[in-house]
Amino acid sequence: MQDAVMTETPDQPDATHNGAGDAARTRREFNKLQKRLRRLVGNAIIDYDMIREGDKVMVCLSGGKDSYTMLEILRNLQRNAPVDFSLVAVNLDQKQPGFPEHVLPEYLDGIGVDYHILERDTYSVVKEKTPEGKSTCALCSRLRRGSLYGYAEEIGATKIALGHHREDILETLFLNMFFGGSLKSMPPKLLSDDGKNMVIRPLAYCREADIAEFSRRMEFPIIPCNLCGSQPNLQRQVVKEMLADWEASHPGRLESMFKAVTNVAPSQLADRELFDFAGLEEKQARMQAARIDFTEL
Ligand code: SF4
Repeated sequence: MQDAVMTETPDQPDATHNGAGDAARTRREFNKLQKRLRRLVGNAIIDYDMIREGDKVMVCLSGGKDSYTMLEILRNLQRNAPVDFSLVAVNLDQKQPGFPEHVLPEYLDGIGVDYHILERDTYSVVKEKTPEGKSTCALCSRLRRGSLYGYAEEIGATKIALGHHREDILETLFLNMFFGGSLKSMPPKLLSDDGKNMVIRPLAYCREADIAEFSRRMEFPIIPCNLCGSQPNLQRQVVKEMLADWEASHPGRLESMFKAVTNVAPSQLADRELFDFAGLEEKQARMQAARIDFTEL
């Protein structure tokens, strides 16, 4: 989305009632936060060419702070962007006990966004297939991804937008290093293995703390993510805390680490697929042959 124009619109923060000065400050802070999120999302979209003219973007809405924020920011960019694209929100109702089915339809009707609620009882499948005491998250995520990818094709969505942010990307990077023996994470843009779906992560540059604050100020109707009763991914929690500790003791470290993800030097790592180490001698010979010896002139 080239040359996206991001303007400040007077959206409503929840101004506090403790005096006009406080309310004005609260509004200013909210506007700054909102502007920052819009700028970062706009930059990520441009940097990775995430959205093009005519795209139909399926915004995956779980009911958590990240996906609500993503939808809100994309709606704003849609109004101000020079390219024309459409948004459709999709929630996957996984039939978890106690899932408040009315919350998302009420919210989406209220803001006038096109949406679909996709009903798939992945909860029963996961419960049936996962041995007692094991985490259900891996299978659950796989089934969710499969359902959403399939549905995107059904409705002709050209992009699938997921609400992962900077910290999600860094946590995944470390989890893959610690447990997967690979240096990889969640890319801002991804073509599915079968080539059928294009996934984008417009919040890739955004800090989780900003998203949490924005979500709080916007008073999104959050649906708790523990309805399935599964233990949260304990290792991810450990890595999350590790990153938070680092950031607290060395402010700016996460920013630097994220920058590193965007600034890879294959010749300074050790992956033979990424860099031709075996060809260094030939390269050296070519360089030496091309060198001009000024002493002989
Ligand atoms: S926490 Fe529950 S809903 Fe979330 S991925 Fe794990 S099993 Fe699925």
